[in-house]
Amino acid sequence: MRTYLYLIAVTFAVGLVGTKTAKAKQADRFDAFAVLREFDAMIGSTDETGVKVLVKIERQSTSLAAYVERNSDFATLTVTDALIFSSRTSVDGLRMTLCHELGHILGGAPRRDVPLEWDGPVAHDGRSEISAEGQADYYASLVCFPRLVRGHDHKAALAGNPVQSEIGEACDRAHGRGSEDSLICRRSAAGGHNMLTLVRHFQISSTTPSQMTAPSTITNSYPDRQCRLDTILAGSRCSQNSRPHQIRLDFDRAEQNECLSTIAARPKCWYRR
Ligand SMILES: [Zn+2]
Repeated sequence: MRTYLYLIAVTFAVGLVGTKTAKAKQADRFDAFAVLREFDAMIGSTDETGVKVLVKIERQSTSLAAYVERNSDFATLTVTDALIFSSRTSVDGLRMTLCHELGHILGGAPRRDVPLEWDGPVAHDGRSEISAEGQADYYASLVCFPRLVRGHDHKAALAGNPVQSEIGEACDRAHGRGSEDSLICRRSAAGGHNMLTLVRHFQISSTTPSQMTAPSTITNSYPDRQCRLDTILAGSRCSQNSRPHQIRLDFDRAEQNECLSTIAARPKCWYRR
């Protein structure tokens, strides 16, 4: 039987990483395995996912990568040890990376088309069962990350990783000054920025939102990096009452998968109504 692979990597690539050295550095920074256990527990805490998700580490890898493979009611989410133990990876950057990949599985519409000559599983409408890149980013900050970190000591988490004042102010405006959701919003923004610059630095910032308007919704490729950051920031700004409460979003109706507040809508640089 053919194994269906639908590899959708958040970051490809990239230089050789001395895993042993990186592990030594990592030990001083955070417990990556604890993050993976926490992520696994979040997925396992509900039977609403509708799909069994196995989280795997690819060992002795030299690529900073994370990807999902989906086969109807079963999905595997793989992250390489090179990514986990890279000295460039922050703890919230790792969380956002995991959340982005989970977003491909649970983020719902808009979804990707299937590749040419694809003979693997397809949804009822002939499209893939994999959420588009922009939707995976949005899901990461809208649904997954807040679930993952709620109840943490956010001030401690932010102590070594302060965010730009503009992000802090936007989070305060959206969620209330000093509230837990405002602190989660800051962490999500910083984690998203880290995820998007894991492989190399990009000139992206919360103060320079994309001016692009996509002619139609981008479903089969990545939006540009600034657009992706804008998407993560938008999801971070959605209040708890305005965000979807289910962990698995609607696979057919994209309009259901958005914050009820327009300040946290998916940006037009990739999503068109
Ligand atoms: Zn992706």
